[in-house]
Amino acid sequence: MKLLKAGDCLWPQVRRVLEEERPPHAAEGTVFAVFADPGRRTKFCGLASERDIAAHPNWIFADLVEHRSLYEVKPSTTLAACLGWLRKSGLEALPVIDAAGSFVGAVTQASLLRGLLKQERSLLEEARHYAAIAETERRQLERWSARLTELQTASRALLTVLAHTTLEKNLLQVAVEALTKLLEARYGAIGILDKAGALVEFVVAGISDEEAERIGEAPCGKGLLGVVIKEDTAIRLEDLTTHPQSAGFPPNHPPMKSLLAVPVSHAGRVYGRVYLCDKVSGEPFTAEDELLAMSFAHSLSLVLDNAHEMEEILKARASLDHLAHYDSLTGLPNRVLAIDRLKLALTQAHRQGCRVAVMFLDLDNFKQTNDAFGHSAGDGLLKIVAQRLLACVREGDTVARLSGDEFLLMLPDIEDIQDAATVAQKILTALALPCPVDAHQIFIGASIGVSLFPDDAADTEDLLRFADTAMFHAKQGGRNTWQFFAPAMNERVRHHSRVEAALRRALEHNELELHYQPQVEIKSGCIVGVEALLRWNSAALGRVSPAEFIPVAEEAGMIVPIGEWVLATACAQGRRWLDMGFSGLRVAVNVSARQFRHKDFIRRVRSILETSGLPPAMLELELTESLLMDAEGDVIAALSELRLLDVRVSIDDFGTGYSSLSRLKKFPISMLKIDQSFVRDVTLDADDAAIARAIITLGHSLRLKVIAEGVETEAQLEFMRLHGCNEMQGYLFSKPLPVEEFTALLHKERFVQVGGVQAG
Ligand code: C2E
Ligand code: MG
Ligand code: MG
Repeated sequence: MKLLKAGDCLWPQVRRVLEEERPPHAAEGTVFAVFADPGRRTKFCGLASERDIAAHPNWIFADLVEHRSLYEVKPSTTLAACLGWLRKSGLEALPVIDAAGSFVGAVTQASLLRGLLKQERSLLEEARHYAAIAETERRQLERWSARLTELQTASRALLTVLAHTTLEKNLLQVAVEALTKLLEARYGAIGILDKAGALVEFVVAGISDEEAERIGEAPCGKGLLGVVIKEDTAIRLEDLTTHPQSAGFPPNHPPMKSLLAVPVSHAGRVYGRVYLCDKVSGEPFTAEDELLAMSFAHSLSLVLDNAHEMEEILKARASLDHLAHYDSLTGLPNRVLAIDRLKLALTQAHRQGCRVAVMFLDLDNFKQTNDAFGHSAGDGLLKIVAQRLLACVREGDTVARLSGDEFLLMLPDIEDIQDAATVAQKILTALALPCPVDAHQIFIGASIGVSLFPDDAADTEDLLRFADTAMFHAKQGGRNTWQFFAPAMNERVRHHSRVEAALRRALEHNELELHYQPQVEIKSGCIVGVEALLRWNSAALGRVSPAEFIPVAEEAGMIVPIGEWVLATACAQGRRWLDMGFSGLRVAVNVSARQFRHKDFIRRVRSILETSGLPPAMLELELTESLLMDAEGDVIAALSELRLLDVRVSIDDFGTGYSSLSRLKKFPISMLKIDQSFVRDVTLDADDAAIARAIITLGHSLRLKVIAEGVETEAQLEFMRLHGCNEMQGYLFSKPLPVEEFTALLHKERFVQVGGVQAG
């Protein structure tokens, strides 16, 4: 606060008068300054007040001022001193004389008081002014602190991203979005440069992917924006389009006006730059925005720095990890990793109830090869073997190198032991090709031992040991072969393979044949139908029962062509019988689930019916109960199409599946075949009898015909007759017969029956 002086508090009502003047009538409070020099009025003589004039009404001013001593103060005299002098002199006013001795004015108690008041008022105003400023500042501070909090949140978001990803692109996207939001900008972009200064990443906010695509090339930073990098400095422009260094926008670029660009740099290295364009409010960017952007860019540079470092660390760790778990020669997992994976696979297989195959593979005569061609050739050979092994397995299988020429294969989730045998065979075939190493063509074989979880063992160690043992047997058994650990499996699988191999030739070698078994109406004793049953007389294996080879054909995918052959042969034969005059003979053909589900099935049925000329109503397809029970949309659609074609459908081996009545009702079927397992003991076992009765009742309630298969005795036939079963099929009447014999039977039986009916 300024200290008030006499000069600041001059009394306003001072009238300059001359010595010889007589006091006039003047306004209250007027002080007269009396001067001697009439010309220039410079010689000050003293002050006279109203009180002086009232005391001596007839005196002129000279008299009034003359008789008393002159008190005076300087303009710089303090207020307190002035008051002191006033009190001391008893005067109403004191003249103020400057350093040159000139009269400046007068001070009175009132003028001093007024000065004080005025100062106080102005102080008050000043205080108010400052208070207002303080309030504005407070508000600004609040806003600032809120934005700083946002900045902090955004920076933290960067760190979070960093913790979860080393993908720079991700990180930058988060950054640019956070910053654009923070600065309330319409558009934002971050460009990152590599060490050579080339733009390697460019992410944007506020511009959609399609827009960005239309814009095309990201700015290369040669013009205005290059300055940010080159000089490591911020740029803030109200209208960047008017700036001489502005390169101008490419054609499809959204128009942008105000710009804030800051470098992303740390410890002297410039990583890139951040641009922000157009505040949402339409105002230009402020210094405060610039500060925030700089601070954010700084955080970003630190994060990028860390990200690079982390990437290095991860890379280093990954390569260490690789060394510890992979074989450096072949790149395959080593023993440690293989065993880890096996343990994991066993846990999963245990939970899901599936099989795991473990294979031990040892190259035959590797040592000799090594000695003959040298170690580097040996290494080359091992690499080729590794590649071939990998080519033989599926994704999810593991091929590992245990040591030297020993490999381990793990096949999790195999369905059948046959699958393991197939892979083993595939490996031997793949390894049988010559291996080109250096200038040589090296031949190598291998012995493989296979153990299975859970068939052979339940834990890792046993499985490995058993596979090793099996491999040893394979070596002893003449090398270049595979062996299961359990001998029974070897036999089973080998037989399966033999059947499969022989079956592949069966069709072309005409080894397949159909036998026909009559289906007889119980009431009339007439032959009303015939079931075609497949027979295979294999050149290699002799007679093989359909119960054995049909599952193999299903698995190997051969059931489709074989089934088609059956259908075509049976339909053609049916037509021949029809032409012979055996009208009304239904021909039943077994159709396996896989065959039925084949997308071409219905089309094939239709074309076979057309070719053979058999009326569709004479054809009956025997489907299994499980096929219908698992039926999804396509199966139901196929059944409906069959109904449209007028082809009949019966359910074979009924009672062995778990048919739900409600589902059964939905299917367009015409007959149930009671499975022979219930028929066999129907007269001995009360449960079987009850089941057979229930099936008959059920079938009739659904308006289906019921046929009993496997009827061998009169007692069984009697039971069926008693309970209203419609038809029967079984050895009691006839075994399945070759076509000529069946035709002969027809002539005999059918003829008699038809004649009998006609006669009756
Ligand atoms: P399935 O369809 O239930 O055929 C009835 C089986 O019972 C036939 O065996 C038949 O010879 C036999 N059988 C008939 N009467 C008696 C009897 O009184 N007592 C006894 N113990 N058995 C009798 P097969 O011919 O060995 O056929 C076995 C299964 O193979 C058939 O059972 C059928 O599921 C399947 N199959 C046969 N031929 C074909 C075919 O062409 N395609 C398809 N997908 N499966 C076929
Ligand atoms: Mg059948
Ligand atoms: Mg059956």
